[in-house]
Amino acid sequence: MALQWLAGTLQSRRVWSDGLFTLTIHCPGVEDFEPGQFLQIGMKLPEKHLHRPYSVASPHAESLEFFIVRVDNGELTPRLWNLQCGESIDVSARATGGFTLSHTPTAKNLWLLATGTGLAPYIAMLRDKPVWENYERIVLVHGCRYLSDLAYLDELQLHQNLHPGRLEFVPVVSREKAAHGFQGRITEGISSGTLEQIAQVDLGPDSSAVMLCGNPQMLDDVEAILQSRGMHKHKKSEPGHYVVERYW
Ligand SMILES: Cc1cc2nc3c(=O)[nH]c(=O)nc-3n(C[C@H](O)[C@H](O)[C@H](O)COP(=O)(O)OP(=O)(O)OC[C@H]3O[C@@H](n4cnc5c(N)ncnc54)[C@H](O)[C@@H]3O)c2cc1C
Repeated sequence: MALQWLAGTLQSRRVWSDGLFTLTIHCPGVEDFEPGQFLQIGMKLPEKHLHRPYSVASPHAESLEFFIVRVDNGELTPRLWNLQCGESIDVSARATGGFTLSHTPTAKNLWLLATGTGLAPYIAMLRDKPVWENYERIVLVHGCRYLSDLAYLDELQLHQNLHPGRLEFVPVVSREKAAHGFQGRITEGISSGTLEQIAQVDLGPDSSAVMLCGNPQMLDDVEAILQSRGMHKHKKSEPGHYVVERYW
């Protein structure tokens, strides 16, 4: 079915580090959606309509946030990076995707694992009520290369203040040493048990639901580790322990 486009306007642009940015797009009329779903954003070029899917980093509202990394040599992201406030940008009218809490198993603890802009769906979920109502403890693990790639830190601290003892944030930075968290890769942190030690939360089939989002290599490697712990991909027909969103 052809996508239906709405005319959005860039309301604000926040740069976290070179090439890593959040766009807030004013676009009333987008149909209601669940945090974790994605919209298409893009623009009409003379030869075609250029668009890509992006997880919405905010719950449904008239203004929507998108957390984006510029892919050098990419077709769309260098154009999004250069967009100025007040300029127009097309947004699809209807969100899609099953990377949501309603497609995630219930459990005592929820592990949210992201690399890079894979953080976006979790920012939207943490701003909404269900995640706080359905899970006792939430562990958010954000993997990136440099400390300057750790976006949304202030907001995560606010959630921790509002929900004492409920949210553990574990940055995993591969090329620099973080004051808090782990230096290395998410896979190493899980295999060695270090992430569980830092968070003081178990990661296993009896206690945990897991969401995985971001870089395909991380997804494949973490899936293999979870399976070695007796955890399985969650399907409606076959309840399991984890769900996955693949960005490319
Ligand atoms: C469901 C879904 C949700 C997504 N949500 C987001 C999001 O919230 N934020 C976001 O930044 N991207 C997200 N993406 C990726 C996005 O759709 C584009 O693929 C990406 O922005 C590159 O677009 P481009 O036109 O600049 O590059 P293209 O010209 O399309 O080049 C694509 C190539 O760039 C590489 N690539 C794609 N994404 C990345 C990345 N993040 N880091 C490094 N290399 C990459 C891949 O090798 C890919 O083959 C999502 C993808 C999917 C499928």
